[in-house]
Amino acid sequence: MDEGPYRGGMQSGICPRCGGAIESDGEMGRLVCAVGCGEWYPREAIETIVQWERVKLAPADLAAGWPWGGAPCPICRQDMKFRLAQQMRFDLCPTDGLWLDAGEYEEFIEAYGRPRR
Ligand SMILES: [Zn+2]
Ligand SMILES: [Zn+2]
Repeated sequence: MDEGPYRGGMQSGICPRCGGAIESDGEMGRLVCAVGCGEWYPREAIETIVQWERVKLAPADLAAGWPWGGAPCPICRQDMKFRLAQQMRFDLCPTDGLWLDAGEYEEFIEAYGRPRR
């Protein structure tokens, strides 16, 4: 098999935190960890609600003590990059999308969401 991932139509993947399954819950193409670690947002989905160019330029988190090490991107399996959104850290794959731990979504949207109205 050499077809690569199905972009945009992916229905499942591997959680970068626990290694378990992440599956679509029908919301905006995201994939959610079965045991609640967090959510994966494919780039084409998150681009509709945040300013992706700004997300890509988010400051890197170089602080020591990150408990997880470089988590693998569910799509390309490369280590994701740690970036900062206000006080929270998130994991970014510049080509594929981003991972938000449980409860980080609102703060992330607050930091990078498109202005409303
Ligand atoms: Zn998990
Ligand atoms: Zn990737």
